[in-house]
Amino acid sequence: MADKPFRVLPRVTSENEHFWRGGEAGELRFLRCSTCDYLVHPPAPVCPRDLSRELAPHAVSGRATVATYTINHQPWYPGLDPPYVVAIVEIEEQPDVRLMTNVVNCEVEKVHVGMPVQVKFEQHDDVWIPLFEPAA
Ligand SMILES: [Zn+2]
Repeated sequence: MADKPFRVLPRVTSENEHFWRGGEAGELRFLRCSTCDYLVHPPAPVCPRDLSRELAPHAVSGRATVATYTINHQPWYPGLDPPYVVAIVEIEEQPDVRLMTNVVNCEVEKVHVGMPVQVKFEQHDDVWIPLFEPAA
């Protein structure tokens, strides 16, 4: 596989910059409600629990669990060579925060539901894409 495969990059805005650029500091960041501690993702201006607008970026541990996954065998993008794993992971601090990601640095046959993983960032220009690898 190429060192840095082609990626479709997100549009970084003031609302999601903490998420896409947290990897520069090695941090997986989500908006957190300052009154109830709920993590709000995708970013929104209001906490869905208590309607507070006091949301600020907060770094989590980067640990997560594979909730579901699929093994892709189609060469959709140059440099992103199949087979590779597309997964939905639940972050440790709040399992209803789920990320669509790739599980990397692991044989595809070894990925399983419930697998502990940890974040690993892949930088493209000024975007740090959160990928996950088996937890140490
Ligand atoms: Zn709240």
